[in-house]
Amino acid sequence: MIELVSKNRCIECNKCVQVCPTNVFDAVPNGVPVIARQEDCQTCFLCEIYCPTDALFVHSEAWKHVEVNEEELIEKGLLGKYRWEMGWHPNRTVRDRWKEQEEVAKRIKVWKDAQEQKLPN
Ligand code: SF4
Ligand code: SF4
Repeated sequence: MIELVSKNRCIECNKCVQVCPTNVFDAVPNGVPVIARQEDCQTCFLCEIYCPTDALFVHSEAWKHVEVNEEELIEKGLLGKYRWEMGWHPNRTVRDRWKEQEEVAKRIKVWKDAQEQKLPN
């Protein structure tokens, strides 16, 4: 789930607020958006993909909060890594776009499987 909004990197464009399908963020007038409803995060990575400055970090752990450290994430090259791996950078190619679609399809399947497991018998 979403774990970090970097105050150092954020340019307050509010794209994360706009793209989040479950309204996790609250916009702040003249400020950095805040994670207001973390428990509603679906770990879809959309916010991370759309963030133009690699200011967000979504942890792949979908069911519980994980403490993260911004400096460590930067050291390990993890801030914005997902966006780059998906090819959502200025020089993206057709191959990148295919890769991205495959990844989204995979994530939708994982999500659907998880929903089915949660359904009562
Ligand atoms: S998308 Fe990134 S830069 Fe824009 S407001 Fe959100 S965190 Fe800040
Ligand atoms: S990962 Fe998806 S659901 Fe979670 S905050 Fe980002 S856009 Fe919203």
